[in-house]
Amino acid sequence: MIMASNKGRPTFWLVGNQLPYFSRILKMIPKDTAILMIESSQRGSQFRYHKKKLVLIYSAMRHMAEWLRSADWDVHYVPLGDKETFNGAIEKHLAAMNSKDIHALIPADASQESAMKKIGEDLDIRYIWHPNDLFLIPRSEFSEWAGGKKVLLLENFYRMMRKKFGILLRSDGEPEGGIWNYDSENRLPFSNKIKPVRSFLPEPDDITRQVMEEVEELFPDHPGVTTGFNYPITPEQAEAVLDDFLLHRLDQFGPYEDVMIQSEPYVYHSLLSSSLNIGLLHPQEVIRRVEELFRKGKVKLPSAEGLIRQILGWREFIHGIYWLRMPEMAQKNFLEAKRPLPDWMYTGETRMNCLRHVIGQTVDLAYAHHIQRLMVMANFMTLAGIDPGEGNRWFMEMFIDAYEWVMVPNVYGMGLYADGGGMSTKPYISSGNYINKMSNYCSSCEYDVKKKTGEDACPFNYLYWDFLDRHTDKLRSNSRMAIPYAALGKKESSELKEIRSSSESFLRDLRTKKSRQI
Ligand code: FAD
Ligand code: SF4
Repeated sequence: MIMASNKGRPTFWLVGNQLPYFSRILKMIPKDTAILMIESSQRGSQFRYHKKKLVLIYSAMRHMAEWLRSADWDVHYVPLGDKETFNGAIEKHLAAMNSKDIHALIPADASQESAMKKIGEDLDIRYIWHPNDLFLIPRSEFSEWAGGKKVLLLENFYRMMRKKFGILLRSDGEPEGGIWNYDSENRLPFSNKIKPVRSFLPEPDDITRQVMEEVEELFPDHPGVTTGFNYPITPEQAEAVLDDFLLHRLDQFGPYEDVMIQSEPYVYHSLLSSSLNIGLLHPQEVIRRVEELFRKGKVKLPSAEGLIRQILGWREFIHGIYWLRMPEMAQKNFLEAKRPLPDWMYTGETRMNCLRHVIGQTVDLAYAHHIQRLMVMANFMTLAGIDPGEGNRWFMEMFIDAYEWVMVPNVYGMGLYADGGGMSTKPYISSGNYINKMSNYCSSCEYDVKKKTGEDACPFNYLYWDFLDRHTDKLRSNSRMAIPYAALGKKESSELKEIRSSSESFLRDLRTKKSRQI
């Protein structure tokens, strides 16, 4: 048991992006500890967060408060309507408790950690920090693994994690199926035959509906709408979404994880990130259930391995890299990209159907799946030379699952190559050909995916070659870029001239022309 150090009553401050349903902490702190939860509208406006994201956080907090009260905790809840800042609310609360002791979970975001420490300094708080339990390994263990390695590869980290947790291993310690990674089998293109079962999604209850009204009233200028909110806000709902995924979509997750379908925003994806990232679902539980289904013969190995790699591999890797490389990573701009975001990025009013569709879907749902984020949105931002800070802001604002720890490495590292290869061995870029192969976007686009240059040619086509041409000095020596640079080198000078001219006029118009003209 953790004891309080002074005479008054200690506090456990729970922040909205860390709801410790599965943590042992609540069993360890004294039951007379007051639980403090603050809905700060000032924090909610730090970015112009999507309205559905705000509903998720505030509704999940209110449900957690109910759950704590039902377990006899004394919850001190400061609602949005009180318009309190963290400092103001904490100061009043501590005076009432007559104690400066605050238990808190170690933040997953560096900016949140500094903000909490700053509040601590301002108010003379004595923090007692506890593990946040959102991840399988603490950041210190990742740094130990990374220590001394010149290159940090996901694949090596993932194998270490499979062995450490004994996941998908045979009795001789080798991987099930004889190989560690089924990525090469998991890249099937779009086909009309793909018919994912529609997801089960929870309906809002009275508490959520109340939050939806308040968010509309208090954050009118934020992107998106609250209507149609149907993300899980309790562990039971998150478990139900997991059940639905395991039953209806996991088996096809692997082969079709890169496919994008206009009428099917989720395809076979899990929709678990919004729950995993705030503690409604524990990563270990998802991995355990997936492995169990594989062992019972109900799910094929490439799909089980594919999903486990995302959570045991990518999610943990991203969290570890973030703490290893912050704060420098969020200042990187290897490609010296300076262009501001065009306004239509918030509305989707563009003639490019892939962007129109993915942005429209994101405005509506606060969700796009990985390939929509990486190979449509980030691909476009990289090719168009969008400033990585602007790109990061857009991603932070638009997604239900966005937090600094996950956004910075995914945007500066994986998506925009702003870190110059610290995370990916080469930029994730493509021409329209890839988007055409993996989706049904191009068949209803006003641009022609087969045309390379000119007014009605797919902009991804000329921007791709222009990008390579513009960044020859920085990228040509990368051995993983040898094939595209060899192809660039074979282009006739007349073709290169057309590529440059089409790109120049497109990029000039990006800012000056009104939406729907691009
Ligand atoms: P699924 O495709 O079903 O995957 C299962 C789970 O694996 C996810 O729920 C997630 O927890 C984990 N996962 C897979 N890839 C990653 C990854 N690269 N990083 C971290 N976790 C991963 N993920 C976020 O959680 N928050 C973000 O803000 C976020 N921003 C992104 C921005 C960019 C530019 C890119 C390229 C990726 C981003 N991702 C982010 C990673 C990934 O796209 C989302 O986790 C995923 O799309 C969420 O949908 P899902 O739950 O249906 O995932
Ligand atoms: Fe996107 Fe180009 Fe296809 Fe249009 S043609 S949907 S712009 S890739």
